[in-house]
Amino acid sequence: MEENSTPEVVLSDDAFKAYAKNVKEKESQRGQGGNFAADFEDIQYCGMEKGVNKIVRLLGAPMGIQGYSPKPTDPVELVVCDVKDDEGKRMVLKLPLRADQAANDHIVYRLYDKVCEVTWIKNNSTGKREKVFINKDKYPDLFEAVTKTGFKQDKDGKSYSYASGLKGQQVVVYNLIDRSDDWCKENKHTKVLSKQVDIVTQDDGSVRTFAKIGVPSFGFTGKLADQISKYGNYENFDVAIKKIGEQTNPYEVRNASKLKSADLLDELLNDDGSDLGADRIVIGPLTEEEKKYERYDLKKLYQPTSYQSIRKRLSSVFKLCDATMGTKLYDELDRLANDERAKYDAMNAEKKDQETTEREKVESEFISSEVKKEDAPAPKRQAPEKRVGPAVGLSQEKIALLKGWSKLPDKDRAGIADVVVKDGKVVSLVFTDSFKDESMLECVQCVVQSPESFTTVCPVCGIDF
Ligand SMILES: [Zn+2]
Repeated sequence: MEENSTPEVVLSDDAFKAYAKNVKEKESQRGQGGNFAADFEDIQYCGMEKGVNKIVRLLGAPMGIQGYSPKPTDPVELVVCDVKDDEGKRMVLKLPLRADQAANDHIVYRLYDKVCEVTWIKNNSTGKREKVFINKDKYPDLFEAVTKTGFKQDKDGKSYSYASGLKGQQVVVYNLIDRSDDWCKENKHTKVLSKQVDIVTQDDGSVRTFAKIGVPSFGFTGKLADQISKYGNYENFDVAIKKIGEQTNPYEVRNASKLKSADLLDELLNDDGSDLGADRIVIGPLTEEEKKYERYDLKKLYQPTSYQSIRKRLSSVFKLCDATMGTKLYDELDRLANDERAKYDAMNAEKKDQETTEREKVESEFISSEVKKEDAPAPKRQAPEKRVGPAVGLSQEKIALLKGWSKLPDKDRAGIADVVVKDGKVVSLVFTDSFKDESMLECVQCVVQSPESFTTVCPVCGIDF
């Protein structure tokens, strides 16, 4: 666009001030709303409650079906470690399952195994062999750092005694249709299975949903397998899942459709006497409509925590192990994180190239269609000079999609050059060159990446880091 053709009035100081006023107003409106995390409705959970049957239709093929190549929406299994990072902040560390051979295991498992090595010693009074952690008394600080990662006995009480450190817990996450309400039907979308969902009103009055990832594999997949071996593919019947909460019997899983059609629903009583919602139990396979419900990309949502994030937040335990036991684990972690970063950078560069090509293509199509529209008879005629390309850069519409914007410090705002939106959702951010030397870390909630120095809040979904 030619500068001298711009009408003065458009870019007057008053016009700028009016724009600024508008920005501030919008910002304060959103600030008052306050529910940054709560209105990030990316995931709807179906949470378990102790003693209450949840009637659901589980979806997707479980891991390990032979000859089937899994889809990103199929159930995923992972290991989740609930720890505190080096700054004392809660962190959910997500790890892939164990490898077939210990030597190929994720570095966190190798750290854990090294420190928590076990030996069996005969107890002379009982005559039985007992399991003993050989480093527990030898290196108490290191043992504590690995088995209780960040939780302190004097400060964290119950959380400390329940903490399982870097051992974590294997969980399974499912897409499902929740029969207890009409949310899935109305939104034509699945929910995600969670062993516990807490809705917490915070000090400032805002409401946040905290959901544990999936349900423990142990005690659930076995019970589900019992139903599968009797009735086959669970996409063809509703199951009732009841959290029992006993260590040896955490869950009950039953074929609710079968029990309903056999008039045996009295086998599915809720402990608190609440209504089961029997009329909502569906008999028969998925309908064509249900098959088309959009499902969450579980593979992406529950991908392992990046090495960069582990390096940034959990370095101390690696360094302590190296200093105590003479390992070289931190160096290895550092290498892994650098390699990962280089891979991300290469991918981003490729993506940028593609986007540029795409934009040029769109622009050239725009020019040719405009020429055609004007029904230009003279082939020599040039393309119109004032062509309008697709919107590039950070528009007000894009800023409005950033739930953390109003909480960002100025330097972080200035660093966001653009927002990449797909189907109305922010899928990634483009940062200015001033951040080009920084590691990128993904948000635990929305998985969009931000530079390492964005330590306060996620620009996209607004959660506090
Ligand atoms: Zn986020």
